[in-house]
Amino acid sequence: MTKRLLLAELLLAEGIGRVRARQMAERIELIKRKRRPKKLKPITRNRAAVRAARASLAKAVKTVFDKQRPKIAAQITTLRDELTELTELTKMSDDEARAIAEQVLAKLNLAAWATLVPEVQQLLLAITEDGIRVAFGQIGVAPSLEITEQVNLRAVEWATARAAELVGMRVNAAGEFVVNPNAQWAITDGTRTLLRADVVRAIEEGTSTADLAGALEESYAFSADRAETIARTELAHADVAGNLITYRDSGVVEGKEWLLGSEHDDDDECDDAAAMGVVPLDDDFGGIGDPPAHPKCVCDILPVLATDA
Ligand SMILES: [Zn+2]
Repeated sequence: MTKRLLLAELLLAEGIGRVRARQMAERIELIKRKRRPKKLKPITRNRAAVRAARASLAKAVKTVFDKQRPKIAAQITTLRDELTELTELTKMSDDEARAIAEQVLAKLNLAAWATLVPEVQQLLLAITEDGIRVAFGQIGVAPSLEITEQVNLRAVEWATARAAELVGMRVNAAGEFVVNPNAQWAITDGTRTLLRADVVRAIEEGTSTADLAGALEESYAFSADRAETIARTELAHADVAGNLITYRDSGVVEGKEWLLGSEHDDDDECDDAAAMGVVPLDDDFGGIGDPPAHPKCVCDILPVLATDA
């Protein structure tokens, strides 16, 4: 440590500049690290910060579910009535009902879900930043002020983009939220899928808005269970995103390994990813990306330092 500081000071004195001196000091840190390989421990997903954020996010999502449920029931019956105005519902074939259900689902306006964005963004950011902080501890690197600023900026970018994507939106160049047809794992898309059977039934049986709203109370689409799963999965996403920001910007991490979660009973894509062993930091594990790979996935990544490879 003393040697490193001395050299950095020397470079500064020579007028080489602060940035160059810091780069030099970081390289020395890296060389020291190469001489002392060590096995890194995984970061626990069950730490207090993540648990607290998970409870808050699940609650925020459930609140929107409860508020939106009767409104969505009303939207569904209104759209159904418009689309089947001249049709006698009882004489409709299954195929016709299913075709109309698709139109109803496509026309469902879920824009109100964007009200979730600010809170989601804040919670994702908190855990991305926490994921950055604990990852620096994990790899044993104290970030410089410059790197700290850089990683915080990346955390904000990531959390903002993901919060928008979660409700089927994206942020455009002007900073406005616009509909994102390519959103991955959007709650809005998931909701359409989960409502399909209820919409078909509402068409076939001519269900009233009140009855449909009642039926939707039993639907997984608006359940506490789903809110919890969304919160758990999104925060796992944020945590790993934070870890990766650290690994990339630290300059000491060369690769990563997929750490199979303890809750994996059946073989799935996670097992395949784990079987790949150490891969480069930007590798996408055979196309599935970093964990979580699916809702409720408890897998993780482990960084591999230059020395461990
Ligand atoms: Zn998994």
